[in-house]
Amino acid sequence: MRKYVIIGVQGSGKGTQAGMLASDLDLVHIAVGDIFRWNVQHHTKLGAQVRRTMSDGLLVSDDLVEGVVRQRLSDHDWNFGFIIDGFPRNRKQAEFFLESYDIDGVIHLDLPDSEVRRRVLARRLCSGCGMDYNLIANSPHQPGRCDVCGSALVTREDDTEEALAVRLREYHEKTNPVLEIFRRKEYVVTVDARPPREQIQREIRKQLDLPP
Ligand SMILES: [Zn+2]
Repeated sequence: MRKYVIIGVQGSGKGTQAGMLASDLDLVHIAVGDIFRWNVQHHTKLGAQVRRTMSDGLLVSDDLVEGVVRQRLSDHDWNFGFIIDGFPRNRKQAEFFLESYDIDGVIHLDLPDSEVRRRVLARRLCSGCGMDYNLIANSPHQPGRCDVCGSALVTREDDTEEALAVRLREYHEKTNPVLEIFRRKEYVVTVDARPPREQIQREIRKQLDLPP
């Protein structure tokens, strides 16, 4: 049984790397953000709670996140283990996590803020069909137009320099203490998130002593 945590800033490719590792090792990929989105889409009680919080302009509380993770982990469909993404978000949660589960490793995807800025500010969204684009990695054939439906591409409302600076500051403020707790236990492997995805995956496996 393998139990991993993956930590990385927005744009670091955390979801991709977690997915690659999970499908190969038969791990359950627990993405907290996806659980919230699913609950909102399916109008569950939890979804209503999340939606209310967000319509008040607030971030989903740490307690709510913790509840969701506890519930998900108690489902016990993770016979071969799990990789969790989006948790723990603070010192208290990290301590709870360490007390409750034997963690095999924490994967820290390291991406400099300047690169996060470059990647995130290159994101575009189709105003017609909602398809995602990235002007660095996957730009449309015709500039500014969606390949699928031809509508104009727009920038997400919260993908501005200012909003991103706030998110980056919050990320570091919350994540550094969590990393510090895990580092004390010598769980953390830090991997450069700039190379192509296959190379990052190889490096993660090497550092965790997993087969390539
Ligand atoms: Zn479109």
